[in-house]
Amino acid sequence: MEHGNPPHVVVLGSPGMGHFIPIVVFAGGLSRDLALSVTLIAHTGDPPSAAEQSLLRSLPDAVDLVLFPQLPAEDFTAGTKIEDRVFRTVMSSLPRLRSLLGNLAPFAALVVDPFCLDAIPVAAELGVASYVFFTSSCMSLSLAFHLHQLDASFQGEFRDLPEPVRLPGCVSVHGKDLMEPIQDRGNPVYATFLRIAERFLEAEGVLVNSFEALEPGAIKALREGSSHPPVYPVGPLIRAGSSDSGEGHECLRWLDEQPVGSVVYVSFGSGGALTRAQLYELAMGLEASRQRFLWVANRPHEHDASATFFGAESDDDDPGSFLPEGFLERTKALGLVVPRWAPQVAVLGHAATGGFVTHCGWNSTLEGLVHGVPLIAWPLYAEQKMNAVLLAEDAKVALRVEADEDGLARREEIARAIGCLMEGEEGKRLQRRARELRDAAARAMEEGGSSCMAMLDVAEKWKRQRNTQ
Ligand code: UDP
Repeated sequence: MEHGNPPHVVVLGSPGMGHFIPIVVFAGGLSRDLALSVTLIAHTGDPPSAAEQSLLRSLPDAVDLVLFPQLPAEDFTAGTKIEDRVFRTVMSSLPRLRSLLGNLAPFAALVVDPFCLDAIPVAAELGVASYVFFTSSCMSLSLAFHLHQLDASFQGEFRDLPEPVRLPGCVSVHGKDLMEPIQDRGNPVYATFLRIAERFLEAEGVLVNSFEALEPGAIKALREGSSHPPVYPVGPLIRAGSSDSGEGHECLRWLDEQPVGSVVYVSFGSGGALTRAQLYELAMGLEASRQRFLWVANRPHEHDASATFFGAESDDDDPGSFLPEGFLERTKALGLVVPRWAPQVAVLGHAATGGFVTHCGWNSTLEGLVHGVPLIAWPLYAEQKMNAVLLAEDAKVALRVEADEDGLARREEIARAIGCLMEGEEGKRLQRRARELRDAAARAMEEGGSSCMAMLDVAEKWKRQRNTQ
């Protein structure tokens, strides 16, 4: 920034690794790359987990950090949806936030993650403009902008919509693939999403973690749309491989010994859990594929595909206790299974990694693309099914695993998809496409690139805001 003190921006993030990681990366970038004065308010475990602490250590010293605790698990019942849990945690922090922001004011802008939109009126009380840092795709953002219209146009559940939904500039998506929290109008989270969708309109702008080459149609439509705040695609923002305590992890040493491009990495993110039957089929499918694999395996759960999201690490995490008998022994020459957490960015950046079976969490998606790794899309919850449609049918960088009518993907199908990704002609085509997107992502972020320019544009607005204070 040219003269005077740099504008002060306060960034507020919600709990859960899928939101914590991008908000920390975003706040760090504002300080490091744009030399803004930054206060980051992050929700973490109490105390923060090892993975959270490791990422926080990567923040520039200049960032002022305030940690708000997540609500404890005891405050929720087993059936509480993760989104509900996140919204309620953020709500419970608002009194503390109000007093903190009051002490920090005046400042140039508040930037909130999409689960923290209830903080916008708190900033408005202080006369401070708010921006959203949207941690998913432009397609999901477009859904948020059109949710009220969709809600009014159809009375039943979206899975029963007779026609696919066509969001402006986006690939058509079947109602059943719209984000999971809006699939049940009877659940209180549906009303919360509708309420939050309106809050977007109170923001001065929305920065979105996506880039031109990945979502050209959606971005064009969002730019042209006038019924919502301006949208700035500033991605892909992902963390550096060195920030996730990966150094020396056994899986990286194991990857060092595998041939280039030979390993399929399998992970369902920070929260994903398969049913026991599905976990078995996946194990048997991996074995049948005869491909090298690195699998971050979570304990199965029969009813909750996001069961690991807020789950504490425990002794039960030992994959030997829940994988098919003899599986680890039979596959030890070809594969490695690690419990709960791998240094994913370092894994995806490793030369041995040639494919990624992913739950399509948006961070995982971007991390795969930034490293030019082709994908098998295996969505579980949240907005992951929409992401899978975008990746397979629009960006054409992913294969799908088809489930049978009973919802189970069988071992033969899994082995087919993995073989196809790692050795087939289609795999080669996807690999070329993944590399194209990798290069386009790098261009978007470099000086003069579309995402870099969009970020500078917003920073310029904050600077002008500072000058009027
Ligand atoms: N992650 C990781 N190691 C793991 C699982 C997840 O480092 O074993 C990181 C991953 O790199 C990503 C984040 O956790 O940055 C997960 O975010 P995503 O949006 O992909 O999915 P979520 O976990 O929110 O469903």
